[in-house]
Amino acid sequence: MKRILIWFRNDLRIHDQKNIITAIKYNPDYIIPLYCFDERQFMTTSFGFSKTGKFRGKFLLESITDLKANLQKLGSNLIVRQGITEDIIAKIAIEYQVDLLLFSEEATSEEINIEKRIIKKLNQEQIKIKSTWQSTLYHSDQLPFSLEDIPDLFTNFRTKIEKKTYNYICEKTPHKLPPIPNIEIGQIPSLQKLGLTDYEIDSKVVLQFRGGETEGIKRLNNYFWKKDCLKEYKKTRNGMLGADYSSKFSPWLAHGCLSPRFIYQEVKKYEAQRVKNDSTYWLIFELLWRDFFRLIALKHGNRLFYISGLKNVDLHWQENWSFFEVWCEGQTGYPLIDANMRELKATGFMSNRGRQNVASFLTKNLGVNWPMGAEWFESLLIDYDVCSNWGNWNYLAGIGNDARGFRNFNITKQSQNYDRNGDYLRHWLPEIASIKGEKIHQPWMLSREEQEEFAVKLGTDYPYKVIVS
Ligand SMILES: Cc1cc2nc3c(=O)[nH]c(=O)nc-3n(C[C@H](O)[C@H](O)[C@H](O)COP(=O)(O)OP(=O)(O)OC[C@H]3O[C@@H](n4cnc5c(N)ncnc54)[C@H](O)[C@@H]3O)c2cc1C
Repeated sequence: MKRILIWFRNDLRIHDQKNIITAIKYNPDYIIPLYCFDERQFMTTSFGFSKTGKFRGKFLLESITDLKANLQKLGSNLIVRQGITEDIIAKIAIEYQVDLLLFSEEATSEEINIEKRIIKKLNQEQIKIKSTWQSTLYHSDQLPFSLEDIPDLFTNFRTKIEKKTYNYICEKTPHKLPPIPNIEIGQIPSLQKLGLTDYEIDSKVVLQFRGGETEGIKRLNNYFWKKDCLKEYKKTRNGMLGADYSSKFSPWLAHGCLSPRFIYQEVKKYEAQRVKNDSTYWLIFELLWRDFFRLIALKHGNRLFYISGLKNVDLHWQENWSFFEVWCEGQTGYPLIDANMRELKATGFMSNRGRQNVASFLTKNLGVNWPMGAEWFESLLIDYDVCSNWGNWNYLAGIGNDARGFRNFNITKQSQNYDRNGDYLRHWLPEIASIKGEKIHQPWMLSREEQEEFAVKLGTDYPYKVIVS
């Protein structure tokens, strides 16, 4: 194995990077690290939204720039191409007489189909291929059940996993890499070249997310070690306002800039050096949700995207564009929904509490076709992860693996419980920020006199409720 090609996908890092370690073991003459901007990722979804919106597009470009710089520090580089991945890989593999292709496996059909086409093309040329599963905390080989027997309920999944003791060791980060051959490096495209428009970061954003493992590790160091937030994570994680109510690791995890095993190791270090409590446990617990949705996607295949969902239930969803549009624009008349949807549109991020509420509202209260919501999220989310997004939408729409069936959130109660003083609502809804106290949670209850007092006219300054519930 003298000439090795490493195809980077959603594993944009050099720490805990199995493909690099495998390649080095062969002591090759050269390694070609490659990233392809696949044009299909920049087309539209079935309901006509950009498959990759500007927030994720920018984060991806930053992540690629960082990966390139980190590879350069090791004496290597990152070859960049734009087009159809399988054609590009076959062309390079043949031209540079590659002996071995290494890549990380994904869990869903679009990505797996690309893998299959690459395997077919390279098999014809007798080029060897080695793929590896490295996106989850627990490797699929180590699970205490086979793929077909993965429990469909998270609690059963978690309890079985937790009965086994894992001690996760990350792969070592190399100090040096073999050189690249004489090959055209290729330019990292601009956002415009990807068909997206540049934008100014909204000043109301929870965190100025910058792509790349350097920034991901910086965020971890800040959250765990400098600000010491991990010890309170369980208490704060249902918040919606500010940088530190939750880890905000998701964009880096989704792009593979942070390895879940690296986070796990840092949690263990924190437990040994600072404190071990229910908050430190809870971060691992949440990472298990991520693993769960990934493995469930692997188990159920395309059923994840079916309108009848994982449970295969036939519900009468409506493709109601007028309901859908007020939801997208944050104009439903329900402050908690509107604040969250405006945050998503302005920044590409929304808290977990917010995501649960807006998904429940769209599907259970408005009865709108749930894949429309899932695709809107796919387009906008900076941390879009196919398995976590579609898995959670299944769950919230009542057609996934929630044992509790078709239950909806009481939006007003959620607003009162998780944003007691209305600070989050005031942050995102300036037109009702003057409403004092608890009344901000239910503007539709304001009397004519109160509307005058707060200078908020319902139906003019802020909409009436889109539905009465
Ligand atoms: C409708 C809906 C859609 C979602 N879409 C995505 C998505 O596309 N990408 C994504 O990463 N997360 C998604 N989530 C899960 C969750 O909302 C985000 O992971 C979380 O809000 C990210 O913030 P954080 O990193 O601060 O999370 P933290 O609370 O700090 O959690 C740490 C990590 O655990 C994982 N995690 C936490 N909650 C979940 C969960 N419910 N499901 C899966 N993983 C979880 C994430 O990797 C997260 O970064 C979705 C949730 C819902 C309800």
